[in-house]
Amino acid sequence: MSNLSFAGVLHAADVIGAELPPTPSWNYPALDAATGCQVVVKHENVQPTGAFKVRGGVSLSAGLTAEERRAGLVSASTGNHAQSVAYAARLAGAPAVLVMPVTAPEAKAHATRLLGAEVVRHGATMGEACDFAVSLAAERGMRYVSPGDEPAVVHGHATIYLELLQRHPDLEAIYVPVGSGSGAAGACLVRDELAPSCRVVGVQSAAAPAAYNSWRSGRVEQAECRTRFSGVATSRGSQLPLAVMHERLDDFLLVDDDEILSAMRLFSTAAHTLAEGAGAAALAGLLADTRRPQRCAVVCTGGNADAGEIADIGALAAVG
Ligand SMILES: *Cc1c(COP(=O)(O)O)cnc(C)c1O
Repeated sequence: MSNLSFAGVLHAADVIGAELPPTPSWNYPALDAATGCQVVVKHENVQPTGAFKVRGGVSLSAGLTAEERRAGLVSASTGNHAQSVAYAARLAGAPAVLVMPVTAPEAKAHATRLLGAEVVRHGATMGEACDFAVSLAAERGMRYVSPGDEPAVVHGHATIYLELLQRHPDLEAIYVPVGSGSGAAGACLVRDELAPSCRVVGVQSAAAPAAYNSWRSGRVEQAECRTRFSGVATSRGSQLPLAVMHERLDDFLLVDDDEILSAMRLFSTAAHTLAEGAGAAALAGLLADTRRPQRCAVVCTGGNADAGEIADIGALAAVG
């Protein structure tokens, strides 16, 4: 079907294990009480870049040729993949250029520069930023890294679910936030092998439903991107993860941005966790699910909340 495989995930786990320790997965009684089920939180917010995407970058960097290292990497991102590629390029001794839409948070652009990469601001959406990154890579003779369509990146992201299901083999469901779908596709690859009866549920903002629409139709679809949460702010589906999700994802929920904000607040009060919006989307999905499992996991994919997001959860907390 595609060049994705469980063997690829195991290989990525070896590579990543040499660089990054496994992330914790905790249960919080206050979160159980609020959701009405037993919830394991997988903490990708504690990664060195503040988000799970560093796994994809480290996995990718291990497979670069000497020529690719010399020439360097170009990619597009709203911020967390940018930090991942910058981190990976630094590890590989390669230069990196990241194209970020003008709407992406400045804090993430700043963090990307601090990792040694060049940031180019271009385009209003991820779709436009990706197109520009492709042409920039051709112009400068650098390796274009697709944010969604790289097998090594999907395999790297899948290692979250290897750690999770090895430690918690009896989960009934795993909620995964979706932007391009690389994480959700990786979850399906591992689930099929280790826990076939566990459901994998994708969650996306209703204000940016490109991956959801693509999952429904089975083709790459575009959709308007109006979510304020950068990690899930994509405007078109990605072919490689779509092929896996269309066949194997059990369900896909849309939540609105206010529900995501409430989930951020719940993470802060019930699980001592600062999640960025995208990092709380899985929890928002669980809260919105009419089919609530008894034992499930939510992946807190990132903690890079910007000042506006933090102010907004503060304002919500003051209200109630
Ligand atoms: C990128 C990102 C997502 C979405 O992941 P995909 O693999 O693109 O679907 C979710 N949460 C955070 C914090 C992200 O950075």
